[in-house]
Amino acid sequence: MIISKNESLHRAIEIAHQALRDFRKKNGFGRAIAAPQVGFPIRMIALFLNDKKVTMFNPIISYKSEKMFTMWDDCLSFPNLMVCVRRHMSVSVTFTDEFGTAQAWEMCSQDISELLQHEIDHLDGVLAVDIAIKPDKVSVDCQAIVDRIEWLENKVKYISYVDYFIQ
Ligand SMILES: [Zn+2]
Repeated sequence: MIISKNESLHRAIEIAHQALRDFRKKNGFGRAIAAPQVGFPIRMIALFLNDKKVTMFNPIISYKSEKMFTMWDDCLSFPNLMVCVRRHMSVSVTFTDEFGTAQAWEMCSQDISELLQHEIDHLDGVLAVDIAIKPDKVSVDCQAIVDRIEWLENKVKYISYVDYFIQ
């Protein structure tokens, strides 16, 4: 089966990648979008990594490292929030690409791994705000969810509260 020749799936791929492009242009960030975020109740993720479009159908996490880390996450669905979450350091995923070919990405780097966990959560109806945790490196009281403007004004402080920061 060549997925991209299927009319409705082809349309979903186009719309998701277009939405991702539009969001990046407007907000200056955003590496991926999940189909449910743009109105398609299917297990598909559109990614833009290293200037390359990638489309994943039915991505499944086949490995999660035991080691975890905390980070400030953001999301195209609530661009005005920064959310502290804990993620696995590395994951492996299997998926079908838009040409219907089975693919496997083994033990991905930390930045790709956290992104995949975020996007696959979307497919299960889980948002970063649902799994928000207070940064555990701080003794001072820091909220798990922070307004992006407040976060940007005190970026150095907030980054120091977590294990990892993605530029
Ligand atoms: Zn998101």
